[in-house]
Amino acid sequence: MKLFEENQLKIYNSLSKTKEVFTPVHKGHIGMYVCGPTVYSNVHLGNLRTFMFFDVAFRYFLHLGYKVRYVRNITDAGHLENDADEGEDRIAKKARLEEIEPMEVVQRYTVDFHDVLKKYNFLPPSIEPTATGHIVEQIEMIKDIIDKGLGYEINGSVYFDVIAYNKSNHYGILSGRKIEDAIHNTRALDGQSDKRNPQDFALWKKADERHIMRWSSPWSEGFPGWHLECSVMSSKYLGDKFDIHGGGLDLKFPHHECEIAQSKTCSGHDPVNYWMHTNMLLLNGQKMAKSTGNYILPNEILTGENKILSKAFSPSVVRFFNMQANYRSVLDFSNDALEASEKGYYKLMDAMTSLSNLSTQKSSSINISEWKHKCYAAMNDDFNTPVLISHIFEGVRFINQIKEGKASINSNDLVNFITTMNAFVYDVLGLLNDVNDQASDKIDGVVSLLIKLRKEARENKDWDLSDQIRDELLAIGIQLKDGREGTTYSIS
Ligand code: AMP
Ligand code: ZN
Repeated sequence: MKLFEENQLKIYNSLSKTKEVFTPVHKGHIGMYVCGPTVYSNVHLGNLRTFMFFDVAFRYFLHLGYKVRYVRNITDAGHLENDADEGEDRIAKKARLEEIEPMEVVQRYTVDFHDVLKKYNFLPPSIEPTATGHIVEQIEMIKDIIDKGLGYEINGSVYFDVIAYNKSNHYGILSGRKIEDAIHNTRALDGQSDKRNPQDFALWKKADERHIMRWSSPWSEGFPGWHLECSVMSSKYLGDKFDIHGGGLDLKFPHHECEIAQSKTCSGHDPVNYWMHTNMLLLNGQKMAKSTGNYILPNEILTGENKILSKAFSPSVVRFFNMQANYRSVLDFSNDALEASEKGYYKLMDAMTSLSNLSTQKSSSINISEWKHKCYAAMNDDFNTPVLISHIFEGVRFINQIKEGKASINSNDLVNFITTMNAFVYDVLGLLNDVNDQASDKIDGVVSLLIKLRKEARENKDWDLSDQIRDELLAIGIQLKDGREGTTYSIS
């Protein structure tokens, strides 16, 4: 029996605004699509919060035994400066300013994104498709929308007719916006756009002479609208009805609202069963965002090179900090908060190191099955990681009580306890035991120092001291090997 069969998972669906029992379209399988980064700059810690939450959700699904197809795209074209249909393409603008090819911008920031995710111990998604790799499919979807009577062409650009769509559908179903308020930007009102209605959004934009990212289409040389890529790539890889679509709260409108309209026009039904949105990471009380300069980079955390930080912090501390908050609440970033998380994280890792060395008794004075049940119940309740962490700390208390002889555990319970702690701490939350890494760095430093002292002793023909260093290290399992390149060591 798979774990998902005995765990009833509930997910807060942004569409119904309620927690719903999760039932996948195909039993035992999950299709999940998460909007990926627009690769025109480094991802900041806010972006990372959103991706990290979905990494933990992905990890929990895998832990429960689901077969998951997790698609997270790379937006490498079509995302304009003001999130609507006006302004320059973000990537093209960066390329113009830096006098490089747009694809050099894309490559640089895609590599940076992957580098950050690796350092922060993310699992790679199953598929990571790009917008520019799916231009043909996007053109096909536009043709379909035009055929269905909801797309219209004006001067080489194609727009989605929101007013016509709304006659038999509900535009605003996800964001709760009234149609009269669902205007894409203020500039459209100034008569600068060709749209029939200010609510309409672009499916295809004709490129002006300045625009360097352009493709041929039946309507003009141009580029696809930003919302289109996610409708196209989600349906291509997950089908036109799939389980979960995620992203940050700021994507609800216009991006996800438009995705629903496009996909529903083509397939005739709602594309997604559960919409999930993460809340924002704040810095100085404001949303962390590239555009306002109010942000901190994941790499700055690792070096401590940002005036907000008192020192460097490890990736696992940042993970722990993020997971101490519910993904649907805003989270305030600060150095103090990170320091507090670091203390908690070290306490946890300390206990994790002791866990495998606990001695057993004939009987248990603690109820491991009840504790384990509470851990699962927390995650089954819409991925409530702060509550899970409070139960994990109850586990830390058990470990310390057993160590101090104030509680006892039998061998069956200990196996269950170790397996459950490891599963939630390492597999689901994705934490790493950096403390052990740091300890091995320190051992390396100490042995290197002894090797240096032994070299000096030999140079001074102090053979007694040099032999003593070698022999005493050997006695504790560290063997020195003298070679042409110098002295190395191995630990047995
Ligand atoms: P972008 O590259 O701007 O498309 O953003 C990538 C993802 O990060 C999207 O899901 C955004 O909603 C999310 N995001 C952007 N800013 C924040 C923030 N301050 N806190 C949490 N998520 C964010
Ligand atoms: Zn998207």
